Amino acid sequence: MSGIITDLKARTIIDSRGNPTVEVDCFVDGVLLGRAAVPSGASTGSHEAVELRDNSDEWLGKGVTKAVDNVNLKIKDLLVGLSVSNQEEIDASMLSLDGTTNKANLGANAILGASMAAIRAASKISEKPLWKYISKGQKTSLPVPLMNILNGGAHATSNVDVQEFMVVPHGFDNFSEAFRAGTEIYHALKSVLKEEGLLGGVGDEGGFAPNLPRNEEGLKYLVGAINKAGYSPGTEVSIALDVAAQEFYDGDNYHIDNRIISGKELGELYSSWLDNYPIVSLEDPFGEDDWSSWIDFTKNEGHRVQIVGDDLYVTNPTRLKRGIDESASNAILIKLNQIGTVSETLQVIEMARKANFGIIISHRSGETSDDIIADISVGTNSGQIKTGAPARSDRTAKYNQLLRISEVCTKYTKLF
Ligand code: PGA
Ligand code: ZN
Repeated sequence: MSGIITDLKARTIIDSRGNPTVEVDCFVDGVLLGRAAVPSGASTGSHEAVELRDNSDEWLGKGVTKAVDNVNLKIKDLLVGLSVSNQEEIDASMLSLDGTTNKANLGANAILGASMAAIRAASKISEKPLWKYISKGQKTSLPVPLMNILNGGAHATSNVDVQEFMVVPHGFDNFSEAFRAGTEIYHALKSVLKEEGLLGGVGDEGGFAPNLPRNEEGLKYLVGAINKAGYSPGTEVSIALDVAAQEFYDGDNYHIDNRIISGKELGELYSSWLDNYPIVSLEDPFGEDDWSSWIDFTKNEGHRVQIVGDDLYVTNPTRLKRGIDESASNAILIKLNQIGTVSETLQVIEMARKANFGIIISHRSGETSDDIIADISVGTNSGQIKTGAPARSDRTAKYNQLLRISEVCTKYTKLF
């Protein structure tokens, strides 16, 4: 095989929320070798790369025909003839064709679909599993899963402000035992909520979505579920939160628990939660441009909790550099579609690693059966993955891929 890209074919498919998204097939030497589907967020950061939508009458404005056409015409013309094994050349040529800093021209969804399909095809040509191909011979390991079992914020219709209450099964010797513990806790939470008449549907990431009198109640339910499942909170299983605070930030103050409070007061609320619950990770505790609150909080609490920038960094090297220089957090959430190519994603991961930041590879709230983040988390030795509840196939696709990989890659990261 010559390893030359001979065709690209994109189409519209549907994601887990019933919205259109882009799927791309990459043909090498006339054979379909890589297929990829692009995820989509709901609590998106305003500094993310542009997700191109049609804004027409169809699909309530959310059609992706323009992005699909961009792959089938312009990107196909550009990539046909290139070696599929040169990911950096593939991605760089799409960046220069796009010509903008935020991929507004071709659309990050078009570019990323082609980029992901290409690396899948390249791993096939190399006859290596994707995670091994991504690792380029460097260290690999199975990540600790951050499992989102109680959904609020923009991912649910409940009154809960905090977007994600996650369990982190870190006190285990391997991925499959950790994952089983998290799954048993998911079922324990379900039975507790059912007993209390609080079991409605689930949120966008498969976690339960009860109404609660205060956000802190979510922490109590998680600790209760960890105990009920027979695990010990803090030593075997801890808690991670994604506050997604931008969603309740008005530019000056934060609206939480029916109160309006300053960044400083919000930080004090978090400190009281850290005092009383086994929280190991706190994502987006403040708004995406409220740098001073981030810096103050990291100075005060960074020694005892992982503080994760998602909307703050949007997987963007310029924003991450500022965060590192100003000590605005000590960890980063990595989402491919925030930046829009595989190569740039891998570069941001390396930048975070050099700064000794925690690294969490993440899904989006709108997902498909594409499981590339499982392979990326192992192949980059990231140590952590966040991919929702252990339920619904858009989420379990990733966990199940990790279970498969764990049969051959037995190293497991012990964190926290
Ligand atoms: P999103 O949520 O995909 O809706 O942005 C996930 C997150 O905030 O981490
Ligand atoms: Zn987030």
